[in-house]
Amino acid sequence: MFKFEVQFLGTSGAVPAYGRFPCCQLVNIQERLYMVDCGEGAQMRIAEYQVKWGKIGTLFISHMHGDHIYGIIGLLTSMSLNRRTQPFTIYGPSELESFIKHQLNFSGELLFPLQFQSVDPTKYKKIYEDEVSLVYSIPLNHSIPTCGFLFKEKERPRNMIAEKIKQYEIPYQYIPAIKDGANFQLPDGEIIPNKELTKPPLKARSYAFCSDTAYTEAIVPFVSGVDLLYHEATFTDEHKQQAIETMHSTARQAAAIALQANAKQLILGHFSSRYKILDALLGEAKEVFFDTKLAIDGLTISI
Ligand SMILES: [Zn+2]
Ligand SMILES: [Zn+2]
Repeated sequence: MFKFEVQFLGTSGAVPAYGRFPCCQLVNIQERLYMVDCGEGAQMRIAEYQVKWGKIGTLFISHMHGDHIYGIIGLLTSMSLNRRTQPFTIYGPSELESFIKHQLNFSGELLFPLQFQSVDPTKYKKIYEDEVSLVYSIPLNHSIPTCGFLFKEKERPRNMIAEKIKQYEIPYQYIPAIKDGANFQLPDGEIIPNKELTKPPLKARSYAFCSDTAYTEAIVPFVSGVDLLYHEATFTDEHKQQAIETMHSTARQAAAIALQANAKQLILGHFSSRYKILDALLGEAKEVFFDTKLAIDGLTISI
C-alpha cells in the first residue's frame, strides 16, 4: 500500500552503450510517479516497461547536458498524441523552458498545459511538496550548474491495533481520526488514549539522486541517513584522471560518499560507454561500502 520504488529507465553516461540508455529514472511514492532526468529514448523505455504515461505528473531535471534532457521533447509530444490533458510540470535549470519551447515552436502545440519551475542548483532547498512527498535540491559539483534531488516520504499515519477496534467496538468512521492521533471516547464517557489504540508509523523513507558530480563531500550532510543513495559512478579507479577532468566520480568515490553519509544502500549508475562489463565498478565500490548494487535498465528497487 505504501509503495516507495525507484525504476531505472536509463543508466548510461554521455552516450548509450551495450543496451544501456542515457539517464532516466522513475520514482514511485504511494502511486505518485515522478520522473528524474529524461535522456534520449525515455519514451521507448516507458513503452517497453509498460509504464502508464498518464501517471507521470512531474519531471525533475538535474542539468542541461544532453544525456539528461534529449528525451524530453519526444516524451512530451507522445503524451500529447496519447491525448493527455492534465498538466505536466518540469522542475529544472532556468534555461530549460526556452530550450523546450523553442522546439515546440516548430513541432506544434501540446494538448496539455506545460509548466516550468526553475530550480537554483546552488542551494539545498525544498522545491516541491504534495500529499505524500517532499523534494529537495542538492547542489552538485559538475562542469555546468547541476543539482541532485532528495525525495522524502511524508510522515505516515499511525497504525491501528486491530484487536482494539473489536475490543472497544470502534465505528469505522472514527478510524482515520484515530490514525491521525485522536483519542476515542466510549459511550460511558471513558477516554481511551491514542497510544493504547495505535502503533507508531514506520519511519518515513528517502531516496537521493546524485548525478552528475565530481567527488564532493559537501553533499554528505544533505544525504545523511538516506535509505537509498544513487550516486553516479562513471569510471573505475583506472580512469580516475578522466573522472577529475570531466567532473565525474569513480565507483570508489561514490561508495566513500555512501559510507560517510551512513546510507543504508548505494546504487551506482551513469556508466561510461567504455565499459561493457561493469564488475570492476561494483567490486571497487564494495571494497568501501558493501551494500552496493549496479543500476541496470529496467531494474526496480523497493525502499
Ligand atoms: Zn551525464
Ligand atoms: Zn553532465
